[in-house]
Amino acid sequence: MSYRAEYIWIDGTSPTAKLRSKTRIVSAGAPPTWGFDGSSTNQAEGHASDRVLEPVFTCPDPIRGGDDVLVLCEVLNTDGTAHVSNTRAALGAVAQQFAQHRSLFGIEQEYTFFDGARPLGFPESGFPAPQGGYYCGVGADEIFGREIVEKHLDRCLAAGLEISGINAEVMPGQWEFQVGPLSPLEVSDQLWIARWLLYRTAEEFGVSVTLDPKPVKGDWNGAGAHTNFSTEAMRTSYAAITAACEALGEGSKPLDHVKNYGAGIDERLTGLHETAPWDEYTYGVSDRGASVRIPWQVEKDGKGYIEDRRPNANVDPYVVTRLIVDTCCTSLKKEGLV
Ligand code: ADP
Ligand code: MN
Ligand code: MN
Ligand code: MN
Repeated sequence: MSYRAEYIWIDGTSPTAKLRSKTRIVSAGAPPTWGFDGSSTNQAEGHASDRVLEPVFTCPDPIRGGDDVLVLCEVLNTDGTAHVSNTRAALGAVAQQFAQHRSLFGIEQEYTFFDGARPLGFPESGFPAPQGGYYCGVGADEIFGREIVEKHLDRCLAAGLEISGINAEVMPGQWEFQVGPLSPLEVSDQLWIARWLLYRTAEEFGVSVTLDPKPVKGDWNGAGAHTNFSTEAMRTSYAAITAACEALGEGSKPLDHVKNYGAGIDERLTGLHETAPWDEYTYGVSDRGASVRIPWQVEKDGKGYIEDRRPNANVDPYVVTRLIVDTCCTSLKKEGLV
């Protein structure tokens, strides 16, 4: 029996890559390796345009249903090497190197719906009532797009994704979903699929989605992707929690991380709106004004996970999870905290 496979990949658009997809009818067996025109996705020149789609993660297609599937792919060159835009390949190597640490991630994806040029729920001219009542709100005067959010959640669950929750955010039309806790590759693959399902679902309502880290200038919260992280040692000892927070603050690490945490990060990490300034590294218990927060429950239990609050909504999960695993596990290993 033939089925439809939606091949999804990440393109080469700079500074923030976009998702692309196309459909293949597969007559039997697993989705095969495929190809595409890289000259139309900023991944090749026209005279040598072929790029390869290598399936890496397949799940049920909750939109088409039946036997149809979504197929997330890595982009390769025709000689089989990873294309320069392929950040998953580098994560794979680092995840394997530090596999014994059993890293887990939960990523909080914030995003904003747009109706034409305005955030969903913003009046035709001027601004809505200031922030205060929208976060986790209820009622038609505060909540915009819930029917899209619920449909997206249904589809993520039907696809088998490990969504752990959703909430309305502090600006009208702004929402969040969380994926995880999962291993670095799993959380990243699932986040990309969940993003694709979000764009695709909102499309049915004539609404667009942006991961712009600062969709409205001025006194409105930006959109982030808080990245919660633990290793086996952190899930059993507070010394490892502190060591991970310290590792993220060592030497050039704060800047190495922040400059790879999504385009436009200096506009969002201003020190206002529950952020720390992008050029200062701090960590603290319960502190939503710190770069890295240790949740109060973690201090109380003496173990658990930390929250890196710096990543932008438009961060590449393959990059943020690679950097955190590399920085923290290198240091934990040195201190014998495996
Ligand atoms: P916040 O209070 O910052 O809004 P959320 O509830 O939105 O927190 O998100 C917390 C995230 O932390 C969830 O995605 C959850 O899966 C994740 N998480 C919980 N425990 C761990 C852990 N041990 N390691 C990594 N992530 C975890
Ligand atoms: Mn959250
Ligand atoms: Mn949030
Ligand atoms: Mn958070």
